[in-house]
Amino acid sequence: MAKRPQPPTARDSRAEGDASHREAIPPVEISPERFEAVVHSISDGVLTESIRASIGRRWADAAMRVTTLFLDLDHTLFDPASIPREVMEPFFAELRLAHARIGGVSRESLESSIPELMRSPITLVARRYGWPEELRRACLQASAGVVLPARLPLFPDVVDLIHLSQRKILVTTGVRSVQAQKIDALGLRAWLEAVYVDDALAVPRRGKKALFRAILDERCLAPEEVVVVGDSLESEVAAGAELGMRTVHVARWGCTPQCPATYCVPDLRGLAAVL
Ligand SMILES: [Mg+2]
Repeated sequence: MAKRPQPPTARDSRAEGDASHREAIPPVEISPERFEAVVHSISDGVLTESIRASIGRRWADAAMRVTTLFLDLDHTLFDPASIPREVMEPFFAELRLAHARIGGVSRESLESSIPELMRSPITLVARRYGWPEELRRACLQASAGVVLPARLPLFPDVVDLIHLSQRKILVTTGVRSVQAQKIDALGLRAWLEAVYVDDALAVPRRGKKALFRAILDERCLAPEEVVVVGDSLESEVAAGAELGMRTVHVARWGCTPQCPATYCVPDLRGLAAVL
């Protein structure tokens, strides 16, 4: 098992305009087996060369002050695996009924995929297990009926994020009713400036890149003053970099020296040092 990485230390000597503190924090060393698991959990293994190229730009010369953070929710501020399993059982029962109607994969395969729905996005699980589109959509619709507990826990290091001076805007992908319950149960509205949901059931899907662009326009923000913070290289890190924003990969379960984000931190305690 990989040793738990220590957060980076704040750099006391950085001066305004001094770019020396902008280099990436050394990524976390993990075993090849663990990396394989991490990549599949965060990006379904689809870290293509084009994504790498698009998000490989570094911002060593970025001089503009960071005023705003675009924050991801699941696996960044909140661990979906902390939702009690019994809360999800009615959803799983409905999924089994949908599967009996739609088919497309074996019953055994469906049962194997169900525990993964506790910790990975539905679309990722659907892709990994080769579900037909009708089953993926039925699963998303079934999940909309989930009733979450009134209170859910944040990752403990979110407290370090709350204390930062930048404006905090949540941009989360998922089924709208479920994400709204999470936001309430986590008490996020007390310290967030705004919340945007990239609706997983919308047709056509909007996606984080289009949503990021709309938020920049709506709030008259320059890409250079925004930092995107999240766990997904394929989603928010790629989208943010394509729009010219700096990105912070929150690699709670490890990463590699090739991490394409501007910065890679093991948890949110490392965030202050890179802003
Ligand atoms: Mg996430």
